[in-house]
Amino acid sequence: MAKHDQEFEDRLNQEYDLKGRTRMACYLSLALYAVFIGLDAVYTPQYFMTFLFLRLTVMVAVGGILYLLTKTETSRALMNLALTLALIDAAGIAVMIYILGGFLTSYYQGLNIIVMGMIVLIPLAFRYTLYLYVSVWFMYAAPSIAKYLLGQKATVVDGVPIATWRFVINNLTFLTSIIVVGAIGSSYMESIRRRELRSRLQLEGMTAQLQESNVKLKSLDELKTQFFANVNHELRTPLTLMLAPLKAVLESRMGKLSPALKDTCETMQRNGYKLLKLINNLLDLSKLEEGKMRLKVKAVNLIDFIPPLLASVKPLADQRQIRLYYQHPPHPVELTLDPDQFEKVVFNLLSNALKFTNKGGKITVYVEERDHTAIMTVEDTGIGIPANMLESIFDRFSQVDGSKSRAQEGTGIGLALAREIVEVHKGQIHAESELGRGSRFIVELHKGEEHFDEAILDRRSEDLPIGLRRRLTDTEEPRVQDIVTDFRRLQLVDLEKVDLEGGRVDEAKVHDALILCIDDNPEVLKLMKMLLSDEFDLELVTSAEKGLKFVRAKNPDLVLCDVMMPGMDGHAFSRTIKADEALKHIPIILVTARTGAEMINEGLQAGADDYISKPFDSTELKARIRSQLRLRQMESEMALMNKNLRVRTSDLVEQQRSLFLSTVKSLASAIDAKDEYTRHHSTRVTDFSLKLAAKMGFSEKELGDLELAALLHDVGKIAVPESILNKPGKLTDEEFKLIKEHPARGESILSPVVELKEIGRVVRSHHERYDGTGYPDRLKGQEIPLGARIMTIADTYDSITSERPYRKAASHRYAVKEIISCSGTQFDPEVVGHFLEIAGAFVQDKDQEKEPGTNGV
Ligand code: ADP
Repeated sequence: MAKHDQEFEDRLNQEYDLKGRTRMACYLSLALYAVFIGLDAVYTPQYFMTFLFLRLTVMVAVGGILYLLTKTETSRALMNLALTLALIDAAGIAVMIYILGGFLTSYYQGLNIIVMGMIVLIPLAFRYTLYLYVSVWFMYAAPSIAKYLLGQKATVVDGVPIATWRFVINNLTFLTSIIVVGAIGSSYMESIRRRELRSRLQLEGMTAQLQESNVKLKSLDELKTQFFANVNHELRTPLTLMLAPLKAVLESRMGKLSPALKDTCETMQRNGYKLLKLINNLLDLSKLEEGKMRLKVKAVNLIDFIPPLLASVKPLADQRQIRLYYQHPPHPVELTLDPDQFEKVVFNLLSNALKFTNKGGKITVYVEERDHTAIMTVEDTGIGIPANMLESIFDRFSQVDGSKSRAQEGTGIGLALAREIVEVHKGQIHAESELGRGSRFIVELHKGEEHFDEAILDRRSEDLPIGLRRRLTDTEEPRVQDIVTDFRRLQLVDLEKVDLEGGRVDEAKVHDALILCIDDNPEVLKLMKMLLSDEFDLELVTSAEKGLKFVRAKNPDLVLCDVMMPGMDGHAFSRTIKADEALKHIPIILVTARTGAEMINEGLQAGADDYISKPFDSTELKARIRSQLRLRQMESEMALMNKNLRVRTSDLVEQQRSLFLSTVKSLASAIDAKDEYTRHHSTRVTDFSLKLAAKMGFSEKELGDLELAALLHDVGKIAVPESILNKPGKLTDEEFKLIKEHPARGESILSPVVELKEIGRVVRSHHERYDGTGYPDRLKGQEIPLGARIMTIADTYDSITSERPYRKAASHRYAVKEIISCSGTQFDPEVVGHFLEIAGAFVQDKDQEKEPGTNGV
C-alpha cells in the first residue's frame, strides 16, 4: 500500500476510534458472556458447568485481546484484533450451539448479536466484515449440519411434532439474511466514513492554506503600517525640519536676504510644500483605507464654514482673474462633521475648480438644506470632464488628461481622498459636467450624529487651538507641526504663480554660448537659471511654441527642452527643429521626469541629441551641455576644414589642368611647327570645333575635352617624318600609308594618361567617314564619336581653306560647297546642318587671321 494510502487508513481508524471501540466491544462481550451465565442456569441447567467453563475460557481470551489492545498501534493490527474478538465470541457460541443440538437451539441468536454488533460497534473495513460473516456462517452451519446428519430428525414444539430440516431452513434463512443486510450496511457505512474523512481532509487543507495566507496578510499589513509610519517619520520629519528654518530665513530672522537668495529660498519652500502635500495626501489616503482614520466630529454651521476657505483661495482666484461666488440659505445649516477633514474636501474641490478654469471664468459654491441632509456644490465654468470619466476621476491616480502634454500638474489623489473622507462621514460625492462648459461637484451629508460608526469617532482628546493641535503619531516641535497642518497653504501650492524674473542678478555678463531653456514649469526654469547662468547666456521660455520662435530668430547654440508640456511637447519640438535644414545643427537636450528605455528611444528618434532626467545633478547637466557644445564646435570646425580642402583641391585640379593644357598646346604647336603648311592648323581646328560644339549645346566639361582632342588631333604626326609631311607633289602609296597611321598613333601617344582615354578615342576617329569608308577603323554614322564627327568638318574646312604643299588655298564658299556635297558620305548631315548655321563666323576668323601679314599662308 502506498504511503499515502496507509496514512489515510491510519487516519480513518484514528478518526473513528477503532481502538476505543474495539475495547468497548471487548467490555460488552465480557458483560454479555457473564450475563448469559444466568441464562444457562435457567435454560440449560444440565450443561451449566460445561458452559461456565466455556464462557470463562472465552472471557479470558477476550481479556487477552484487551491486553494486546494496549500494545497495538497500527491500524491493520487493530483490525485483526477486532476480527479475532468477533471470531472468539462466535466460536464460543458455535460450540454451545453444537452441544445444544445444532439447528434446534435458539442460542444461534447470539450469532445475530455478533453480526449486528460488529456493524454498529466497530468501524471494521468491509473485507474484514466479509471475512467475519462468512466465518460465522460456517461456524453455525458446519456443526449444525453435522449434528443434523447424526441426530434427531424431528422434535415436538407446543405438542406438535416438527421436522428438524424446517428449523435448518428457518434458522439459516434468518442468519443468512441478517448477514447479507449486515454486509451491505457495513460496506455502505465504510464508504460513508471514507467520504467523510476525505472531505474533512480537504477542509483541513483549505483551512491550513487560509491560515497561512492570513498569517502572510497580517505580516504584510504590519509591514504596510510600518512603512507608512516610516514614511511619516523618514520623509515628513526631515522635510518639515528643512521647511521650518526656511520659514525663519524667509522672514529675515536670520539676517537680511539678497533678492537672489530670497528667491531661491522661496523656490525651495514652495517645492518642499508640494512634496509635503503629496506625502500628507498619501498618508491620509492610506489611513482611510486601513480604516484607521478617526473623526473628531463637532457641530458646525456649514454656512459659516465655507467663507474662510473661499477667502484663502481668493488671492489665487484674483491672480487668475476668476470670480468667486457663494450662495446659501439665510439661516444656519447645522451639521456634525470633522472640520479638519471636511476642509480638505472643500479645498480639494476649490483648488481643482481653480486649476481647471480658464481666465475670466467663475466658481460658485452653493449650500442647500434638505429634510435630512445638507448639500454643498462647487461649480465651475472650466474645461469640464468627459461623461465616461465622471466616475473614475474619484479613483486614485486617475486623471482625465494623463498625457505628457497635459496642461496641469497633479497626482490624481485629491478626489480619491475627498471621496474617502466624505464616505467616512457616511455622505456621498459625485460629479456632473458638460465638456467645455464646466463641472459641478456635489457633496451630500446627513444631518445629526446617529449615522456615524462609533468606532470611527475619536473622542479621546479635547479640541485645542489649531496651532497647538498635534497628531498622535507626531513628535515634532510645534513649529514643525504648524507646517504639517498648514493645510490650506499646502493645498494651493500647485496653483501658485511663479515669478520668473525674481532674483535676477547678473544681467551684464556675456558668455560664449546662448542656451534656450524650455519648460512649462517656471520653477524648473528658475532652477536652470540658478545652475547655468554663471556659464552661459540663457533664454527661458514656458512653451515649445515660444521656443521655436526664439530659435528661428536668434539661432541659439543649444536647446534644453522639457518633454511633457501642454501644446507642443518636447518630442514634437525636436522633430520640427531637426526637419528644418537651417536649424537642424542646433543640439537639443531633452529634460524629463519620465525615464525608461521607451521614452528615451522616442526622444532620440525625434532627433534629440541627448537626454537628461529630472531630478538632475547640476554637474551632470553642465557636463552634458558642454559636451554637446564641444561636439557641435568640432563639427563646424570640421565642416570648415572640409570646405577649405575642397576649394584647395579644385584649385589644384584646375592648376593641373591648365598646366596640362599648356603642355598640350605646346605639343600641338610643336606638331604645327613640324609641318610648315599646317602651321596654326591645330589651333584653328580647335576654334572651329569649339564653336560648332557650343552651337550644338556641349557642356563646359565636354567643351574642355573637345578642346583637348582638337588641339591634339594630329599629335600622331610626330611619328611621321618631316620630309613626308612637307613633301611637295604626290605621295607614294607607302608614304600615304604612313600618313594614314597618324590617328591611331595619336591615340597610343595619349592612352597612357587616364584622363585622356576618351580624348584619345576622338583623336583616333578624326579621319573616319560617316559612310564607313574612313580610316583607321571604318566606323560608321553614330559609331564615330560626336567630337570626331565635329572635328572632321572643322579639319576639312581648315584644310580646304589653307594652302598645302600640293595645292593652293581654296575659298570659303568652295569649302562650304565641298562640305555640303560630302554631307551624308564623309560628314554627319546633322553636324553639317549646324555648321552651315554658323559658317559665316568661320570665314571671319579665317579673314582676320590672313589680314595681319602672312598673306594666305
Ligand atoms: P489632481 O488634480 O491632483 O490631478 P484630483 O484627484 O484632484 O487629482 O483630480 C483628478 C482629475 O479629475 C484631474 O486630473 C482632472 O482631470 C479631473 N478634474 C477634477 N476636478 C476637475 C474640474 N473642476 N474640472 C475639470 N476636471 C477636473
